[in-house]
Amino acid sequence: DTAEQKPKLTVLLCAPRGFCAGVDRAIQIVELALEKYGRPVYVRHEIVHNKFVVDGLRAKGAVFVEELDEIPPEDRERPVIFSAHGVPKSVPADAQSRNMFYLDATCPLVSKVHKEAEIHHRRDREILLIGHAGHPEVIGTMGQLPEGSVSLIETEQDALNFQPKSGRQLAFITQTTLSVDDTAGIVNVLRERFPDIVAPHKEDICYATTNRQEAVKAVAPEADAMIVVGAPNSSNSQRLREVAEREGCRVSDLVQRASDIDWTKFDGIKTLGLTAGASAPETLVEEIIAAFAERFHVTVESVRTAEETIAFNLPRELRDKSAQQR
Ligand code: SF4
Repeated sequence: DTAEQKPKLTVLLCAPRGFCAGVDRAIQIVELALEKYGRPVYVRHEIVHNKFVVDGLRAKGAVFVEELDEIPPEDRERPVIFSAHGVPKSVPADAQSRNMFYLDATCPLVSKVHKEAEIHHRRDREILLIGHAGHPEVIGTMGQLPEGSVSLIETEQDALNFQPKSGRQLAFITQTTLSVDDTAGIVNVLRERFPDIVAPHKEDICYATTNRQEAVKAVAPEADAMIVVGAPNSSNSQRLREVAEREGCRVSDLVQRASDIDWTKFDGIKTLGLTAGASAPETLVEEIIAAFAERFHVTVESVRTAEETIAFNLPRELRDKSAQQR
């Protein structure tokens, strides 16, 4: 038995990991739209930040574009879906003015932040958004309000430097996929400087982000190395990698596929932590385990720090279709 000659490796599987309810819903929206309306169905931006998912949907007839004007005139009748990250108000407005039929796959937890922004604006508050510049969710959230209404805070330093533009009451909102610890640091600075700043009722960082970071914190101290399955443009995946690094994992790598693994880094390890970002499918986790099993005698243990039962409703247009299916 060659298994006897392979070095032993314990894989500690973080749970929860992988798909969240918002990603699950977004992918279902594209699949159901393809079934109901046929191909092509257009999707504005990667539906979720995962190449494997995007390629799979493309094979079924989804066409990905960055902006609506990339959709050829002869296909303007076709449905277009907005990604889970949310879109600026100008996007549905643009779709409407072109008489396009759109389905919104924005995660309801992102829409909740959009609504908070609007409420603060209506109450004449000056708004700060804690988030990462350039991320589509940040572009979408800032785009709920007229340009210049929201100030972006990326770091504690930004929070220290921030100068209110007005004497109005301040309020902050956040991106949903931030580091829980970094955000707490930024919020502390803001609260110290502006004790009256209005905070979200309940965290804007979503349950999935929070739970995945917690699971990594539980596993990292036990592991020699951590692998996070996820894409480089996936914010929540990047944060998981950082959490493992800060918790002392000597190696903490973000990989999209087993072929990305730099095996020299995993020489001699005894325990590997493994997790996946909210947009990474479980098959890719299985692929990573299989790749390790070729080189190590692997024992897999699950480390669960939370149960997740949350699921979101589909848009009205697609509900019957999914009811028929089940
Ligand atoms: Fe929604 Fe959170 Fe998933 Fe983003 S990570 S899609 S906010 S549940």
